[in-house]
Amino acid sequence: MSKLKIAIQKSGRLSDDSIKLFKECGIKFEVGKSKLKSTSRNFPADFLFLRDDDIPGYVEDGVADVGIVGENVLVEYGKDVDNVKALGFSKCRLSLAVPREVDYPGVQYFEGKSIATSYPNLLQKYLDENGVKAHIHVISGSVEIAPGIGLAEGVCDIVSTGGTLLSNGLKEVETIFRSEALMVANKSLSAEKKALLDRILFRIDAVQKAQNHKYVLLNAPNEKIDEIIKVMPGMRSPTITPLAQEGWSSIHSVLKESDFWENIETMRAAGAEGILVIPIEKMIS
Ligand code: ATP
Ligand code: MG
Repeated sequence: MSKLKIAIQKSGRLSDDSIKLFKECGIKFEVGKSKLKSTSRNFPADFLFLRDDDIPGYVEDGVADVGIVGENVLVEYGKDVDNVKALGFSKCRLSLAVPREVDYPGVQYFEGKSIATSYPNLLQKYLDENGVKAHIHVISGSVEIAPGIGLAEGVCDIVSTGGTLLSNGLKEVETIFRSEALMVANKSLSAEKKALLDRILFRIDAVQKAQNHKYVLLNAPNEKIDEIIKVMPGMRSPTITPLAQEGWSSIHSVLKESDFWENIETMRAAGAEGILVIPIEKMIS
């Protein structure tokens, strides 16, 4: 039987969440500092631990069947792979930044200037779209120090909170790309490998849905049930059971995290009390 070869980042900002994702999907494998490869004990998969930059290329070539990589790296390297799922972690943006003391007039500031980055393709595309001609200075790491050492007048780098820029005397002035972790796959997987990938995607779906929903229980006077269940659609419909106390019921349902607080307020206003909110571990509709 064939095994699915899955590439994840060996060590960095994608690693922990990638490992956690497979754990939550019930796929067990060992992770060790010096390990470059690990075979799952309970799923036909081999895990390859690589530098994130190498993952799109390895997936394109079929050295790995599937990989997890930041959208920024995927688009920068322009490899031909299937983008099968957005994973919602390692969210960050690629931004232009300039020394804090610069009185920034807009993107034309960069005309004729030099910009240090590890993302020349994404940056060039942005500059072209904005009609700006600048010199791109490619460096592979510690981009933020470039202006301080006179290497460039601006930088284009990954930002999540902006703390690194700030501590290097820089300020963010333009966001050029938004990124999150993606699951990518080789374009010509065998039917057998596709079936394995589908099993994993089904599990990821269940994990993601569970994270986006809560199980809610509450008590309500019987005459208020209709009003309350309007905001508690549930998976098929809510469960309603009578309480020992005459005239009251307990209502159970599943609520979406996104409109959670609004709906809870509506329920309280309608007379719900004793509201319990419980996390869901897996959710399969
Ligand atoms: P490698 O040694 O594997 O090449 P790296 O140093 O290139 O690692 P990391 O800094 O670990 O890369 O970042 C990996 C990916 O995580 C980035 O390509 C980006 O998608 C995302 N990322 C980077 N910085 C952050 C951040 N501060 N917050 C969230 N996600 C981030
Ligand atoms: Mg890298």
